[in-house]
Amino acid sequence: MNGSFRIGSLFGIPIQLHWTFLVIIPLFAWIIGSQITATAGLLYGIFRVPIDMTYIAGGWVPYALGTVVALGLFGGVLLHEIAHCIVAKRMGVSINSITLLIFGGISSMEEKDPDPRVELPMALVGPLSSMAVGIFFVALVYVTAALVGDPPLAGLLIFLFAYLGILNTFLFIFNLLPAFPMDGGRVLRAYLARRMPLHRATRIAADVGKVFAVIFSIVGILIFSPLLILIAFFIFIGAGQESTAVKYNFLLKDVRVGDVMARNVMTITPTTPVREIIDLMYTTKHLGFPVIDRGFLVGMVTLADVHKIPALDREAMQARDIMTRDVITLPPQAPVIDGLMLMSRHTIGRIPVMDGDRLVGLVTRTDIMKVIEIKDI
Ligand SMILES: [Zn+2]
Repeated sequence: MNGSFRIGSLFGIPIQLHWTFLVIIPLFAWIIGSQITATAGLLYGIFRVPIDMTYIAGGWVPYALGTVVALGLFGGVLLHEIAHCIVAKRMGVSINSITLLIFGGISSMEEKDPDPRVELPMALVGPLSSMAVGIFFVALVYVTAALVGDPPLAGLLIFLFAYLGILNTFLFIFNLLPAFPMDGGRVLRAYLARRMPLHRATRIAADVGKVFAVIFSIVGILIFSPLLILIAFFIFIGAGQESTAVKYNFLLKDVRVGDVMARNVMTITPTTPVREIIDLMYTTKHLGFPVIDRGFLVGMVTLADVHKIPALDREAMQARDIMTRDVITLPPQAPVIDGLMLMSRHTIGRIPVMDGDRLVGLVTRTDIMKVIEIKDI
């Protein structure tokens, strides 16, 4: 997912953190710290366990406590995601990476078309583990109240456990809302997919998700909660992306690269002047050319490669000076959806098609999109 960076790995799965988390943790720490007395009153109202905050309120202690709670929330989200991963691994689905977001995470799965029988338990286990963690902390509240005699320590621990109990319960409820692509939305899709094709089930679940996103953003604006607006944004984008991906998968399921590639590919040589390449782009309207040297593909020159060079320097340069050398290629028998995935992963618009060492064609994003349009009628 965009805007994320890797923080480590668990069970061999890269764990990524979305940048919003970095903003949210200090923000949460500050909010919790500055409202500690009011929150303690609220927690007392829920748990009916006296929380003695007289030793805690004031100074830096509330903010330290706020930080611990915020990190605890982070731990809760991580645990929730790990639960998804363990079930996924058990059921033979490989996970590419996990991205931690404020309200949960997004596991990027290898599988293109999720099997409802796999998706249902996988989606359910996350919220259920959040519920279990929530119950665990609530139990700790009462255990601490009964066993810890020292008032400052008891107050501190009860506040922490009660807060984490509430947050994890919130994670449980919130993730179970049928707002695709959140867990509840996946449960809904898995349920629908038992009686209709996956792409239709996904579209319905995504539409429900978008309705939730709109409701969240309206409520977010009304109660002035940037957090809710951000969540709405994530859901809206995620729902759209996933339903498009499933639709493309469905429409392109029997199409091979060889079926859609252009066969008469215009090629250039390593010594073709850049000026000539630009002219070629004008006349042919093709924005990328494979570079062939003695019958072998040695690179690719695209409009992006030309753009990287200042206009003045282009005059003296040749294809070999600006070409991309590690060219991604596909065999004609590869599924065309693989081509589309490669193009979006590497932000490229065309892939040379190779039959062994021989260049046999070129597949472009535009051509694939045309096929999708035709198949969609
Ligand atoms: Zn989840």
